[in-house]
Amino acid sequence: MQAEEILKRYYGYSEFRKGQKEIIDSILEGRDTFAIMPTGGGKSLCYQIPAVIMKGLTIVISPLISLMKDQVDSLNSLGISAGVINSSQSINEVKDTIHKAAFGRLKLLYVAPERLEVESFYRLFETLNVSQIAVDEAHCASQWGHDFRGSYRSIAPFIKRFNPRPVVSAFTATATTDVREDVVNLLTLDEPNIFVTGFDRENLSFSVIKNENKEKFILKYLDDNKEKSGIIYASTRKEVDNLCSMLNKKGYSVGKYHAGMSDNEREKSQEEFLYDDIKIMVATNAFGMGIDKSNVRFVIHYNMPKNIEAYYQEAGRAGRDGENGECILLFGPRDTILQKYFIEQTVFNEERKINEYRKLQSMVDYCHTTRCLRKYILEYFGEENIKETCDNCSNCNSDSEIIDITIEAQKIFSCIYRMREKYGVTLIAEVLRGSKNQKVLNLNFDKLSTYAIMKNYTINGIKDLINVLIAEDYLNLTEEEFAVVKLKNKAIDVLKNKLKVTQKVYKKKERIQVDTSLFDMLRDIRKKIAQREAVPPYIVFADTSLKDMSEKIPLNKEEMLNIKGVGEKKFERYGEEFLNVLIEYNNENKIRNFEEIAITQADKEKEDKVPSHIVTLNMYNEGKSLDEISQRRGLKLLTVQDHLMRCGLEGLEVNWDIFIPEKYEKLILEKIQEAATDRLKPIKELLPNEVDYNAIKAVLCKYKSAQ
Ligand code: ADP
Repeated sequence: MQAEEILKRYYGYSEFRKGQKEIIDSILEGRDTFAIMPTGGGKSLCYQIPAVIMKGLTIVISPLISLMKDQVDSLNSLGISAGVINSSQSINEVKDTIHKAAFGRLKLLYVAPERLEVESFYRLFETLNVSQIAVDEAHCASQWGHDFRGSYRSIAPFIKRFNPRPVVSAFTATATTDVREDVVNLLTLDEPNIFVTGFDRENLSFSVIKNENKEKFILKYLDDNKEKSGIIYASTRKEVDNLCSMLNKKGYSVGKYHAGMSDNEREKSQEEFLYDDIKIMVATNAFGMGIDKSNVRFVIHYNMPKNIEAYYQEAGRAGRDGENGECILLFGPRDTILQKYFIEQTVFNEERKINEYRKLQSMVDYCHTTRCLRKYILEYFGEENIKETCDNCSNCNSDSEIIDITIEAQKIFSCIYRMREKYGVTLIAEVLRGSKNQKVLNLNFDKLSTYAIMKNYTINGIKDLINVLIAEDYLNLTEEEFAVVKLKNKAIDVLKNKLKVTQKVYKKKERIQVDTSLFDMLRDIRKKIAQREAVPPYIVFADTSLKDMSEKIPLNKEEMLNIKGVGEKKFERYGEEFLNVLIEYNNENKIRNFEEIAITQADKEKEDKVPSHIVTLNMYNEGKSLDEISQRRGLKLLTVQDHLMRCGLEGLEVNWDIFIPEKYEKLILEKIQEAATDRLKPIKELLPNEVDYNAIKAVLCKYKSAQ
């Protein structure tokens, strides 16, 4: 089978996403392949499709048990056989899985990297015919990446054991050049084809909210987005606990996740979130790696994370299904202090410390920049030629106006100059504001000509301005715990009146309300099925599929197979239950009219070359009622009746009684004899009005065939 066919048949998708086809082809050509795609970009499919096509087994090395379980459930639900080996299983369970793989009953086998460190496992694997080794989250191999895992170092010796050597594919969302080189070397990739598909996630919107009461913001946001599922990240366990209990008290269904909870508590919380039993997860950054919950609609950062890599990965957990996702960062000045504290507490190597401070500063700049946030992120990851505006971030979308802040900037720069570029943001702001704080007085800064020249501003207002000027590259902040503000050349030009400084200020836009009742009904049925089958709801269908259904309202199998994410196997399992809801909804609301449905159906039948009346008869023989056939085929009830009638007249077996009202059968027969003709009109005239032509036709046929 071709890759495109598998995509449609198993996954129910009609097009590859950017880069997927090239990556699949490269693996199929037997070339080692390293793919760097953003979170949610669709990496899994890139090794799964070759796994289906190639003879033999694909071993997938993946860092988290929850991720593997998820992927395996998901693959099995698509009709692709997959198994898993992880550290929580008994040796017999493992042997059983290996046995299945040895007999070719599995196409993919997910394995935790820790298992590769155990010699006895090696020997078990040696018995298998392995065609591909796929390494997920490949950046875990590099200590310069942000999730280093020692056990990833055992992948290279593992690969070496196989003869012939399987093709090796590696996938990650983190792509700084040093990590990339490290991964290629550490995994011993053999002259790999490297694909970088671009980091943009167009379906995600980005916002930074500054200087707002964070709790109030969250309450308002949750109130406006009641049905949505999302993650709220906070920096510390304590903050997670507080936020979670506050939201629970307010009646929201919220769970939490952090390293201070027991394994059981964490697992339970995670499962509840995956199964949509709780809508909102409040968590530290311990939560999320490998979570493929596709219908996360928002990721709010209650605190600023430590760097852009971490932010983009966490925020990227929104909208994995390709539907819109909102990524909101609530920034407060305390966040920077906290992150610096973390660096001081955890990083001891000087070189790495400077590196961490540099990364943190880029994160802080993200919070203050007034330019397009998407462009900022993409440039950070080294992309070039990015549009100036994306129209989908808080800086592009806001109703904004550009104001001239040259005077304010000059006041700030001149004050920094007079303070000899030796102090941090807060002290500079205090001097400009005219604070009588002891430190200001001790240093005699109240004698400076720039003392109190911004007394109409608040301290936070001045600090904000300074931060904007840092983000816009007029000022530089040294990379250390107590960072000092320095002037850059651009600032000198401003002081010399050679350059003007502008700032964008904005208001928030109104939200547009949409009707989501059908989507909610589909979601309910999905939840029921998920509970029945003990899988997370998104394994049944992703939000994208439900959204596509609620927009297109498919009313028959063919239409359903055109819905994103609905393949043959999934239709077989769940299609009917969803169709019932859709048909019922359409009956009540009459969204789609018969002509429209009939056209699509007619096209299909032309293709199939099955005469329409025979299709009707087949459906009838499958046990569908006339009403149902009319709905599904988009035909009027009368047409359906005509079809069956025609089948009967052509000599096919039809149960005539369905057309004949029992109480009139005898009367109709009498009147046929009385009229002594086969023509319908004279017979009808002899009968009560409610007896229709079909009833007469049916009695005629039944009577004839009985003769
Ligand atoms: P990641 O790159 O983060 O590992 P996944 O492989 O989990 O991403 O894919 C994210 C989501 O995108 C999944 O729900 C997947 O089914 C969906 N997806 C992948 N490829 C396509 C495609 N070609 N068309 C539509 N959806 C896709």
